Amino acid sequence: MPAQRLDGKACAAEVETELLSRIDGLKGQGVEPHLAVIIVGDDPASHVYVNSKVNTCKRLGIRSTHIALPENTDEQTLRDHIRELNMDDDVHGILVQSPLPTHMDEEGLTDMIHPDKDVDGFHPQNLGRLVQGRTDGMLPCTPSGVMRMLRWADIDLKGKRAVVLGRSRIVGMPAALLLAAKGADATVTVVHSRTEDAAAECRQADVVVAAVGRPDMVKADWIKPGAVVVDVGINRVDDATRDRGWRLAGDVDPQAGEVAAWLSPVPGGVGPMTIAMLMENTVRAAELALDR
Ligand code: NAP
Repeated sequence: MPAQRLDGKACAAEVETELLSRIDGLKGQGVEPHLAVIIVGDDPASHVYVNSKVNTCKRLGIRSTHIALPENTDEQTLRDHIRELNMDDDVHGILVQSPLPTHMDEEGLTDMIHPDKDVDGFHPQNLGRLVQGRTDGMLPCTPSGVMRMLRWADIDLKGKRAVVLGRSRIVGMPAALLLAAKGADATVTVVHSRTEDAAAECRQADVVVAAVGRPDMVKADWIKPGAVVVDVGINRVDDATRDRGWRLAGDVDPQAGEVAAWLSPVPGGVGPMTIAMLMENTVRAAELALDR
């Protein structure tokens, strides 16, 4: 029987419905949640992501400021923008779209964002809280979107073996921490490029979260029958049958859906959840600012 669909679009729609009433509540108290997004350069995929973030803000009634800077912007200019937004009490969330041009110190720049406005959840203070087991702070959007989607599907993680493929700061490591956190209670293995036999690790897993950036890497015979598979990967692959010449592929071969109990689609899985969680972090940042 084919896997059930871990439907990120449907789950994100539920998150948005919840957010609408929180946004109404904030507006009733004279606060309009406000997200500032900075993008540097012309990377087409990054512009698509930023536009969809800005459009989601519009749909929900969140104010957004979109700052687009040319590729040759110097680092100091970007620092000045971040400093200004940090000091602006009307701005609740700041996001610097990745990747930045190679002449910029991306980690250093995102570390400059005030932790209370760090809606991407990448600031060392926010990631540090997560390492301490405190999951009530600004959580990185993609991993927290994965967790929300698993809850939406009523998947019990307690005592289950989870394998996270990838150990990046933005997806793999925080996903592993969230899966292992008290309350989720999975037993987690992190697989990376030096792992001896990634397939063998996956075959033992009740839950697989794939975040490697390699199209269709996880094959059907890597999956234990009945496992839950979350495909975080977003990869552009050539496809001559499409007018635009490419299509999106995940990190999981769709054939894995013949073995798994649940599989998230690409697109329409983790992608919409990432944006929904960004909106939630922005609303949360506005609520916290009101309480201060
Ligand atoms: P990343 O920073 O490039 O990290 C990739 C990770 O995969 C690294 O830890 C790497 O190991 C590991 N890896 C690479 N090749 C491997 C292999 N053959 N076997 C085992 N592990 C391997 O990527 P990322 O930013 O985490 O993103 C991962 C994927 O998720 C990408 O496709 C990205 O586009 C997608 N993504 C999607 C969303 C969304 O909203 N859906 C958000 C963010 C990212 P090492 O550490 O050893 O190099």
